[in-house]
Amino acid sequence: MRDDFPEDVKRILAARAVNVCSNPKCKQPTSGPSETDKAVTNVGVASHITAASTGGSRYNPSLTPTERSAIVNGIWLCQKCGKAVDDDSNTYTVEILNNWKNKAEEAARRAIESGYRPQPLTINAKVLVHKAYFNGNPTQNYFIKITNTTRESDIEITHVWYESDNFSVDILAAKLPKRLKPFETHETWIPVAKILDHVNVYQNFRVVISSGEVFTSQQNMSVRPFGFVAGF
Ligand SMILES: [Zn+2]
Repeated sequence: MRDDFPEDVKRILAARAVNVCSNPKCKQPTSGPSETDKAVTNVGVASHITAASTGGSRYNPSLTPTERSAIVNGIWLCQKCGKAVDDDSNTYTVEILNNWKNKAEEAARRAIESGYRPQPLTINAKVLVHKAYFNGNPTQNYFIKITNTTRESDIEITHVWYESDNFSVDILAAKLPKRLKPFETHETWIPVAKILDHVNVYQNFRVVISSGEVFTSQQNMSVRPFGFVAGF
């Protein structure tokens, strides 16, 4: 006598795990289109956390047949992980399987709440610094060019400053906060004379954005070392 899962329980377990193997080290997608245009290929299995029958892995005699074939006793896995879990109850304990299941379902819940992204979004900005003069003005400045290099998201610059071991100064010309669309650039500047510590100066500018990430500058090698720029 095996207490197998009814079809609707299997379907629910698959959907709760978004048709992905619940083993956190595997995450194999378990469904996709079949060769014919109206069918589904399924490589997933609803595995029993405690076995469907006496002698199976992690069998719990205290459960009723209904409990044994209920959603709470199932975990969605790919065929490979399903076989491993059925064969080895020493490695794959009830506790571990419940842990996998909870994590997979929690991740699925979070994905619904926050909007699905195949990869976590990496926020990135490039900060390039060069020396130049404004046209017709003898004051030499450091120009700080900030580019949002995040592909799919705006960033909001909240603070720009210079910071060395012994000295720090805000870049007041920056007009903040400033929102940048993907690949949009914002340029600001500070007179060279306001920087009192010129060691590694090109690496010492900092930009922080509203989410808290801090970006460090580098020297802008794509411009002449002492150019002129049109007035802002
Ligand atoms: Zn798997």
